[in-house]
This record gives sequence, C-alpha cells and structure tokens, in this order.
Amino acid sequence: MGSYRRPHELPEALDLLAQGSWQVMAGGTDVFPARAHRIAWGNPSEADWLDITAIPELRGITLSGNSWRIGAATSWAALRDADLPAGFDALREAARQVGGRQVQARGTIGGNLCNASPAADGVPPLLVLDAEVELASTRGRRRLKLGEFILGNRRTARAADELLVALHVPAARAEARSVFLKLGARSHLVISIAMVAADAEGRVAVGACSEVARLWDGTPLAPMDDVRGSAAYRHAAAAELVARAQARLAA
Ligand SMILES: Cc1cc2nc3c(=O)[nH]c(=O)nc-3n(C[C@H](O)[C@H](O)[C@H](O)COP(=O)(O)OP(=O)(O)OC[C@H]3O[C@@H](n4cnc5c(N)ncnc54)[C@H](O)[C@@H]3O)c2cc1C
Repeated sequence: MGSYRRPHELPEALDLLAQGSWQVMAGGTDVFPARAHRIAWGNPSEADWLDITAIPELRGITLSGNSWRIGAATSWAALRDADLPAGFDALREAARQVGGRQVQARGTIGGNLCNASPAADGVPPLLVLDAEVELASTRGRRRLKLGEFILGNRRTARAADELLVALHVPAARAEARSVFLKLGARSHLVISIAMVAADAEGRVAVGACSEVARLWDGTPLAPMDDVRGSAAYRHAAAAELVARAQARLAA
C-alpha cells in the first residue's frame, strides 16, 4: 500500500510534489478505474496518493474583474448547478451528461483536463470559451491556453511538480450563448464518439474525433478510426452535430 496525504493548504501540496513522486487525485473517477485495470493486468505497483480535494483554493466559481475563475477541483455537479452566463451553457450541458449523478458529484473539471482523454467532454466547451489553465508549483505560477496545455492522448504540458489550480475564462467570451451536443453509443452514461461545442459568435470545437479536441476552422475534418467508430462515421456524425448546434443557436 502506498502513502496517502490530503493537505488542507496549497503550499503543503506543492511542497510534497516538489519533494517526491505523487499520484495526484481529485475525484478519483479516472485514476481508480485505471488502477483497477492495471492491477487486473498483473501490475500491482501502488502509487503514493496526493488527494487535493481538501484545498479550498482549488474549488469554486467566481467572477473577478474581467475574468471567471473555476477552481480545478470544482465538481461537475457544482458546474451543472451553478448560476452562470449563457456562454457557460455548453460546459453546463457537458456537466449534465458526464457519467451519472455519482460521477458528477465526484469528478472534477481539472481531472477531466489533466487526464487528457480524447473523449474528455470538458475540452470543447472550454476551447470555445477561450479558457486558460493556471498551473502552480513551488517554482511559481504560469498560465497556458487550453489548446497549449493538452498535447495529445493522455499527454499534457503539466510538469510532475505542478498542480492545475484553476481555469480562467474571459468574461466577455462568457456572454455569447453556447450549446454542447454529444453522440455516444446510447443516450446516457456513455463515452463520446463525437461531440461539439459551439457559440453564437461562430466558434465551434469538435471533440472525440482526434487525439486532442480542436477549434474547428471550417477546413474538412480528418477524424480518427477506433473501436468506437470509423473515421467515415465520425466525419458524418461531427458534421451533423455541428449543423444541429448551429441550427439550435440560430433558432
Ligand atoms: C462511470 C464513468 C463515466 C464517465 N463518463 C464520462 C463522460 O461522460 N465524459 C467524460 O468526459 N468523462 C467521463 N468519465 C471520466 C471522469 O469521470 C472525468 O474525466 C472526470 O472529470 C475526472 O475527474 P476526477 O476529479 O475524478 O479525476 P481523477 O481521476 O482524480 O484524476 C484524473 C487525472 O488528472 C490528474 N489530476 C486531477 N486533478 C488534477 C489537478 N488539479 N492538477 C494536476 N493533476 C490533476 C490525476 O493525477 C489523474 O491523472 C467517466 C468516468 C466514469 C468512472
């Protein structure tokens, strides 16, 4: 059994990360299924767990000046139920569709981004919102555009000693109405085959069709092929979702 720490202050968490090798966990809804999978396939190695859910600075949604701040450990349920301007409708709709109520209560927006699955439902709405991520370590803080943070399938620009502390969304961007549409193999509790977020100002992001969700610039999509869907199927599905999202925004 590895160690388990649950600091109540951010500096303590950052000191631990600077001194050793810790597996960060927030809601645990990605890391624990991955751990069970690892053990089932004969790898019993155990991490030292750094639980970040008791750090107040990592939670909550606030407007300060011309920017919204979402703490990285804010749960999907908190996002789903928050009173936010129309630009967040796509993100709140994604929150309503992530897993079931239990996953929404535990899972966090920061975990979704750091896990960097191609099918992470939080990414397209946040791309449309032009979100930045804020990373902290004992070396200081830095901000990156979300598109610079997620580098590939399960790869991010986060260094091992850094924590994702918050997301920042320009307040002006949060005013334009937005929608989120997702296609899976069934209507609920499903991993996306394709998903789309779009806003009334014409920004469109497509997810689950490539290693990393992308803002769509109007050029033809070249989706990936995998067990969930062929490239041709994804191409048709994404095009249909974009058309439906735009029709909904125009209505
Ligand atoms: C039944 C089920 C259904 C699901 N359905 C969906 C779905 O529909 N759509 C979807 O997108 N996802 C889905 N997921 C995946 C998961 O719930 C989400 O990705 C969730 O947002 C992960 O958040 P978490 O807090 O649980 O992350 P964790 O499992 O705690 O962590 C995930 C990764 O992020 C790292 N991490 C977490 N927080 C930080 C931080 N602040 N700083 C640095 N690193 C951090 C961890 O080290 C780990 O590598 C589902 C999962 C389950 C079990």
